Amino acid sequence: MSNFISYGRQCLDEDDIQVVIDTLRSPNLTQGPKIAEFEHEIADYVGVKYAVAFCNGTAALHGACYAAGIGDGDEVITSPITFAASANCVRYVGGTVVFADIDAVTYNIDPLQITAKITDKTKAIIPVDFTGQPTDIDEIMAIANEHNLVVIEDGAHSLGATYKGRKAGTTAHMTMFSFHPVKPITTAEGGIIVTDNEEYYKKLIKFRSHGIEQVPYSAKNGGWYYEMTDLGYNYRMTDLQAALGVSQLKKLDAFIARRQEIAAKYTEAFKDVEGITVPKQLDDTASGWHLYMVQLETADRKQVFDTMRLANIGVHVHYIPVYWHPYYRNLGYEKGLCPLAEAWYEKALTLPVHPGLTDEEIEKVIKTLKKIIKNV
Ligand SMILES: *Cc1c(COP(=O)(O)O)cnc(C)c1O
Repeated sequence: MSNFISYGRQCLDEDDIQVVIDTLRSPNLTQGPKIAEFEHEIADYVGVKYAVAFCNGTAALHGACYAAGIGDGDEVITSPITFAASANCVRYVGGTVVFADIDAVTYNIDPLQITAKITDKTKAIIPVDFTGQPTDIDEIMAIANEHNLVVIEDGAHSLGATYKGRKAGTTAHMTMFSFHPVKPITTAEGGIIVTDNEEYYKKLIKFRSHGIEQVPYSAKNGGWYYEMTDLGYNYRMTDLQAALGVSQLKKLDAFIARRQEIAAKYTEAFKDVEGITVPKQLDDTASGWHLYMVQLETADRKQVFDTMRLANIGVHVHYIPVYWHPYYRNLGYEKGLCPLAEAWYEKALTLPVHPGLTDEEIEKVIKTLKKIIKNV
């Protein structure tokens, strides 16, 4: 499968590999200086005060739900068109997931639908920057402020994307970025929460390390003394991963520039093809193009998918509406809950985008899809 074109994958150079090897030879494999450096660099890049690294993005979302104080019976509103982790994190802390339908233009959660789903049990909103296009965060923050809700932005796709000239992650109470290999930069597995709020920051630090707090040295306590004050987890990132993250972050802007170039090529190629609708970008946002997704208006999606795969092109579909999964169906969610999201999903197809794609590979994707669309 060497000439298989995957929909997304990491982009690593020798210098990325070397920093990991160097860290392996250092005294600290975990909880060392690279974690602090990576957190500092991410906070600086995004333009926020604090960043707390986690072993993956899902653990980071779990931490954010804990820090937000979400608990039994609290309702949290999120999008159905996302990876299951955006909803699962609410379940980890005993909350109830409420799905609000998407906007027909951006495919992000629709602020009007959020408002319609607010009850006196609503505690938080988890908007997702789907495909790398930032969600309408100003509108969502206005709704949240009016109803006293916490906003946890799922920015797994959007590190480096901008909204009204601001980086994704500057506006919500907390924002999660993921460093899974297909995401904008990678640490193999990894995630982070960024925030300007000191109280959330302290809770996140505690949560990722067993719920332990350092207690100031006093005459009463020995130097070994610490207290576990809450039930936390071991959700720490290693220094090997953080070293890789620091190295990758230097390349993020170049990665995004290449992703934007690829997206522009696809849009140019498909915008006038009958039966294909290309994704739209709002004027005041710049997507990081984690995913490029078209809508197949007339063709049989499964047939197109299978034919593309036979041609060694790794098309994909993001995502099955979360509440269609048996786990959520067993909780009582039913098909038809979010009609726009469901209709959108039925026609959706993800085309390959990653910084390492060659122009020849992009041409192959374009030619093959055009040919299939004409014939089916
Ligand atoms: C990848 C992803 C996550 C989870 O991140 P991991 O680092 O894989 O745990 C959460 N939400 C969305 C939208 C994602 O794409």
